[in-house]
Amino acid sequence: MTPIATSSEVVAAVERVVGSCKRPISLHEPRFSGQENAYVKSCIDDGWVSSAGEFVNRFERDLASSCGARHAVVMVNGTCAIHAALLCLGVQPGDEVIIPSLTFVATANAVVHAGAVPHFVDAESTTLGMDPLALRSHLEAIAVRKDGTTLNRLTGRPIRALMPVHIFGHPCQLDSLAAIAEEWGLALLEDATEALGSTQHGQPVGHRGTTVFSFNGNKIITTGGGGAVTTQDEDLYRRLKHLTTTAKQAHAWAFMHDEVAYNYRMPNLNAALGCAQLEQLPGFLASKRALAQAYIEAFDGMDGVRILPSPPGTDSNYWLVTLMADRADPAWIEGTLAALHAAGLLCRPVWQPLHQLPMYRDNPRADLSSTESFAQRIINLPSSVVLGLPYLNGASA
Ligand SMILES: *Cc1c(COP(=O)(O)O)cnc(C)c1O
Repeated sequence: MTPIATSSEVVAAVERVVGSCKRPISLHEPRFSGQENAYVKSCIDDGWVSSAGEFVNRFERDLASSCGARHAVVMVNGTCAIHAALLCLGVQPGDEVIIPSLTFVATANAVVHAGAVPHFVDAESTTLGMDPLALRSHLEAIAVRKDGTTLNRLTGRPIRALMPVHIFGHPCQLDSLAAIAEEWGLALLEDATEALGSTQHGQPVGHRGTTVFSFNGNKIITTGGGGAVTTQDEDLYRRLKHLTTTAKQAHAWAFMHDEVAYNYRMPNLNAALGCAQLEQLPGFLASKRALAQAYIEAFDGMDGVRILPSPPGTDSNYWLVTLMADRADPAWIEGTLAALHAAGLLCRPVWQPLHQLPMYRDNPRADLSSTESFAQRIINLPSSVVLGLPYLNGASA
């Protein structure tokens, strides 16, 4: 068996990269170095802290333009944004939605909130995202087209949508996945909650179709809590806005609501934070990419491990820098994590695959052997913007 770097070699490499930063070093912490105080203070001074105010409109405009989308709707968090987007894309109770098993639990929870059933498929090693080849053969094995609907022959349920995830900020193989969605008549929703600022073929993630972002405290920019859907589709945008703002018809004073809807709108206070954070995104990206490059060099040539680079044709935001072992070894993961934590480096394993969680154990699924292997090969390294600053402008730590 190929040897894998010892835990002390891993700790030493991470320490070389993060240098003398104060311990403990967390996995990903927010950075407030712009207009945050001024914008939030102006909300408080003007009294516009809640469900109306100019920062909401401005954040939606700025976000849409930063990812090349025509529209954005900002909401209270990414989970709610996925939920609302699924409903607007036509997902109905009893439908199945295909998602990866190797993702954060919110991806699956939002499907269940829409009354639908998560159907898990496998991941591939260049992006950690959905494997298009495995997806295609899985659909050919279990699905059938009938009267314009794709049915799962094993469960009898319609398969309505495909939701790939850009894991750790690395864009997944979207061209191939979009082609499969098209062939099978599935709605496509990108879970890009981790991938704001990443690009693919030179275009920002979020510029095509319909895409969800998160601004939770651990993401690349934060609004405290928050999320958004971006879309090119005018009708979908209107529907989304209506459904997430209690379906209130526009009127200066009357309260007329035309359906049971949601109060998912982002408060102005949070949007103020979002505007200030988004202004700093280019700098955050530069810092995180420089940090990732430093990790890549620090681990270069080490036995049996490497830093997962931006997939071909993409420029990742490196939301979480990923150390990947060549083979699955749970004891190596446990031992290395313990050594890293002992050194004040608060690294994390990847999420427990969702099909192994008690509430999703009996869900429909494809073969998930790659996912199960990756779950025993991955350690996420400290990835905060601040850690990359010493590497900007060609300087080294
Ligand atoms: C963060 C995240 C979400 C959910 O976002 P929240 O804003 O925390 O609700 C969904 N999917 C993935 C993959 C995430 O990382």
